[in-house]
Amino acid sequence: MEKTKVAIIGSGPAGYTAAIYAARANLSPILYEGFFSGPAGGQLMTTTEVENYPGFPEGITGPQLMDSFKKQAIRFGTRCITEDVKGVEFDKYPFIIKGSKTYAEAKSVIIATGATAKRLNVPGTRDGEFWQRGVSACAVCDGAMPIFREKELFVVGGGDTAMEEALFLTKYGSKVYIVHRRDELRASKVMADRAKNHPKIEIVWNHELAHVDGESVVSKVTLKHTETGEETDYSAGGVFFGIGHTPNTSFLGNEVALHDNGYIKVMNGATGTNVEGVFAAGDVQDHVFRQAVTAAGSGCQAALEAERWLAGQGE
Ligand SMILES: Cc1cc2nc3c(=O)[nH]c(=O)nc-3n(C[C@H](O)[C@H](O)[C@H](O)COP(=O)(O)OP(=O)(O)OC[C@H]3O[C@@H](n4cnc5c(N)ncnc54)[C@H](O)[C@@H]3O)c2cc1C
Repeated sequence: MEKTKVAIIGSGPAGYTAAIYAARANLSPILYEGFFSGPAGGQLMTTTEVENYPGFPEGITGPQLMDSFKKQAIRFGTRCITEDVKGVEFDKYPFIIKGSKTYAEAKSVIIATGATAKRLNVPGTRDGEFWQRGVSACAVCDGAMPIFREKELFVVGGGDTAMEEALFLTKYGSKVYIVHRRDELRASKVMADRAKNHPKIEIVWNHELAHVDGESVVSKVTLKHTETGEETDYSAGGVFFGIGHTPNTSFLGNEVALHDNGYIKVMNGATGTNVEGVFAAGDVQDHVFRQAVTAAGSGCQAALEAERWLAGQGE
């Protein structure tokens, strides 16, 4: 059985940054990288260029950036465990972490398991098809890329996420279509009005994405009428799913308080949860910003808060 002062669950920008800070504070953290939950390194492992992470004026690929995060965490003494965490017991102290093969006792825990962007299983949008070659789930991350500039862009969804993505994309695309299955939006009135009144946005009501085509990148989408089944082709430079994210919190059961949407509740604008000694960082507790730099920043906060909390316990 492992015994540690700090167990970090998750290996994205939040988890590795927490590990760098905890390791440099001589807390010898262990970090669960995940296995079936997704690639070690988190969401950025599925992208090519990251152009907005500070410090890389020419941009850097997601995998290169995450490899550097990991090396820096290991350099100061983090021990990475390539396993998913299957369950936790926060009513015991030290806390219990149940990995898929191992079992650990931890005096503090930082949860940094991220969130997964929802995607639809539409032909042409999957991995190995046009995913990340014109199909994305993050306008803020990818919208400024040259392939989307002055092109007709399509956003799928009808909630606030879709409105935000569409409004953001008006800076780059020649026109932005919002494809929505129904004849009214789920978005809040203020967001819906902003989108409806934008001269570059057109809402395609009662349609769904049927397939996406192209050669090296997306060049065409086919939309299908949800009532008549009639299909219409459009020329397109990009498709963005704006249908929300699922926070990776199912393994927590009822051990920590969650919002109704499944994100972890944190207190006082920082990273403490309802369980003293348990902290949450990155996208798993942030349904607003969801960026690598904000995740890394909250990983730093979580490690500093864990260090102070442990010091208060005489550790
Ligand atoms: C395609 C794409 C492109 C993006 N591009 C950009 C960009 O250009 N710039 C930008 O700032 N942001 C970008 N983002 C957003 C950015 O990737 C996220 O905001 C950031 O990665 C969140 O970091 P995180 O550490 O909170 O979680 P994540 O990166 O989601 O990492 C969480 C990690 O936890 C692991 N995990 C999950 N459950 C468990 C478990 N039970 N046990 C153990 N491990 C577990 C996962 O496998 C994963 O490795 C992009 C996102 C996507 C999907």
